[in-house]
Amino acid sequence: MHRATKIVATIGPASSTQDILLQMIQAGADVVRLNFSHGTADDHRQRAEFVREAARQAGREVGIMADLQGPKIRVGKFENGKTTLIAGNTFILDADCELGNDDRVGLDYKDLPRDLRAGDTLLLNDGLIVLTVSRLIGNEIHTVVKIGGDLSNNKGINRQGGGLTAPALTAKDMEDIRTAMSLGADYVAVSFPKNATDMEMARQLANIAGAPYNIKPKMIAKIERAEAIPALQGILEASDGIMVARGDLAVEVGNAAVPALQKRMIKMARDMNKFVITATQMMESMIHAPVPTRAEVSDVANAVLDGTDAVMLSAESAAGKYPVQTIETMAAICVEAEKSEHVELDKDFLDRTFTRIDQSIAMGALFTAYHLGAKAIVALTESGSTALWMSRHWTHVPIFALTPRTGSERAMAIYRNVTPLHLDTSSDRDIALAQALEVVVGKGYAARGDMVVLTVGEPMGQAGGTNTLKIVRVGEPV
Ligand code: PGA
Ligand code: MN
Repeated sequence: MHRATKIVATIGPASSTQDILLQMIQAGADVVRLNFSHGTADDHRQRAEFVREAARQAGREVGIMADLQGPKIRVGKFENGKTTLIAGNTFILDADCELGNDDRVGLDYKDLPRDLRAGDTLLLNDGLIVLTVSRLIGNEIHTVVKIGGDLSNNKGINRQGGGLTAPALTAKDMEDIRTAMSLGADYVAVSFPKNATDMEMARQLANIAGAPYNIKPKMIAKIERAEAIPALQGILEASDGIMVARGDLAVEVGNAAVPALQKRMIKMARDMNKFVITATQMMESMIHAPVPTRAEVSDVANAVLDGTDAVMLSAESAAGKYPVQTIETMAAICVEAEKSEHVELDKDFLDRTFTRIDQSIAMGALFTAYHLGAKAIVALTESGSTALWMSRHWTHVPIFALTPRTGSERAMAIYRNVTPLHLDTSSDRDIALAQALEVVVGKGYAARGDMVVLTVGEPMGQAGGTNTLKIVRVGEPV
C-alpha cells in the first residue's frame, strides 16, 4: 500500500538493536529521531551506525534527526529521589539548593527567580503538578501547591503563558550539534526557539560544524513555547521545517488551544513551502498495549487530514513494549486517512505567481499530472527542491524523486507523498529519463501503458536547474 504521510520514530532503549531497527524501518519508519535529552554522545553514535546499517539492509535511505535538549528548565535532584507535594502546602524552588527534600528543591536554571512574579503559575512534570508563586526572596521562589503529586529528580518546569528568558541554545546543545554532525545527522531539531534569530543562530552553528562532513542539515524549529506562536512567520522563514511539539506547547498555552494551533501551523508551513511534523502522545497507550485507543487513531488520522508531512513517535518507539507494532499500526491509519482526503487542487494555483523557473515547472507538472490522471510524477532533482514544491499540494499522484545525492534522498524522506530514489548522474537527458523510468517501473510503482509526468533540468546535474516537463507513456520511447 502506498503511504504518503511519513513516520518519524524516536529510538531509545527499546529500539537500539540492529534487528529491531531493521524491523522498524521495514514497518515504515522514514526518519529516526535521536533524542539528545537522554543518552551520551557514544550512545547516539552507536545508534546512528545501527540505523545506517539497518537502512542498508532494508534497501532504502532513512533520515536521521538529532533533537537537541534545549533550555528545558528542570528542578534538581532530591535526597530520596523524590518528594510528594500536597495541595495547600508551601514548597520552595531554591536556586542555591544542592539536594532537595520535602521543603525545597534546586534549579538547573539559576536565573529563574528573576523571570517570575508573585501570582505566576508554574507547571511541573508536563503539567501534572501546579504551583502558584507567592513570594520571591533572593534566589528562592516560594510557592503554594495548587495540584500536588509525586515530584522526582530533574522534572521539567514551565510557566503558564510562557515568557521565560533562558537562551535557546545551551552549551550542551552546541556540543551536541557537533556530535550530531560528526555522526551524519540529516536534520537538527531545535528545542524551545522563541524567534527567527534563535533558528538562524542554530543553523549557522550546524553549518559550521557540518562543513568538515559536507553536511548542511535541514533545520527544524520545535514550536513549544508561547512566544513562538506570534513569531511563527519569522521562525518558518528561518527554518526548513517545524515540529508541532504538543507536549511542551500544551503546558504553556493550555491543552485546549493546541488542536487549532496544530491546524494553523500545518497550513502555514505548507503555504510557505516548509515541511511539518506532528508530535507527542500520538500513540501513547501503545507504550504498554498492543492496540491504540480510538482517540489515538483519530488523532493520527486528523493530523494526516490537516496535511502534516509526518507523524512522530516518542516514548512509544523509544521505550515502549511494542515499537514495531506501533509503527505498523500508525502506517495503516495514515494509508486509510489519505484515501478519504478530498482534493481541491485548482484553487491553490489560481492566484499564484512564481519568479523561479524550476518552481513553475514543479507546479506545472503537478497540475498536469492531476488533470491527466497520471500514475506518477518522476522528478530528477539534485537538491530536492522540486519534490518539496510539488509535495506542498495534495493530489493523490505519488511523486518519485530521483537524485544522485544520498544527502538529498535522506532530506526528502520526510516530505509527504515523496518517495526518494537513487539515480546516478548522466550527462544525456534522454538516457537519464529512460533510466529514471526504469527505476520506477523496476520497483513496481508504474507499469506498461501508465502515463507518467517527468521533470528534469538541462544542462544536467545542476541544483535549481529544473526547466523541462515531459509526459510519456511507459513502454513508448522517451
Ligand atoms: P520533547 O519535544 O519530546 O523533546 O519534549 C516534543 C514536545 O514537547 O512535544
Ligand atoms: Mn518538548
